[in-house]
Amino acid sequence: AERTLVLIKPDGVQRGLVGEILRRIERKGLRLARLELRTVDDATARAHYAEHEGKGFFPSLLEFITSGPLVAAVVEGDRAIPAFRQLAGGTDPVDKATPGSIRGDFGLITQFNLVHGSDSPESAAREIALWFPES
Ligand code: ATP
Repeated sequence: AERTLVLIKPDGVQRGLVGEILRRIERKGLRLARLELRTVDDATARAHYAEHEGKGFFPSLLEFITSGPLVAAVVEGDRAIPAFRQLAGGTDPVDKATPGSIRGDFGLITQFNLVHGSDSPESAAREIALWFPES
């Protein structure tokens, strides 16, 4: 089965949406292979978002991701990568995510869009190795 790296970002944890988001993942038929609450350091956040280094929102994104506990998970199942991105909705919670998606239902501001999911098999492999190096 395919695997994807999912984060419930600090805004999702702080707003008490962990159960709601995990419920949607499970109801879709995807499985939780790894699940952990943790607070990340600057180096991990930088490595995770390396593709955005140099962009205007990068410093603020790093500050946000390291601001408090987040949930890191490995989610698996048939077409897990696109399936989770469908659940999440587009990056901008208003202009791109549709109602019924996690971001469409609960998000308002692009930076605070609640979840992350790997966007390709290559990203998933890289991100799972970064977040769960023992797996
Ligand atoms: P993620 O990688 O978290 O799943 P994504 O693939 O939908 O999100 P990216 O374009 O990779 O979106 O951006 C990574 C993250 O950076 C976004 O999820 C969001 O939190 C933040 N971000 C993206 N664009 C902006 C922006 N213009 N202003 C502020 N934050 C942004």
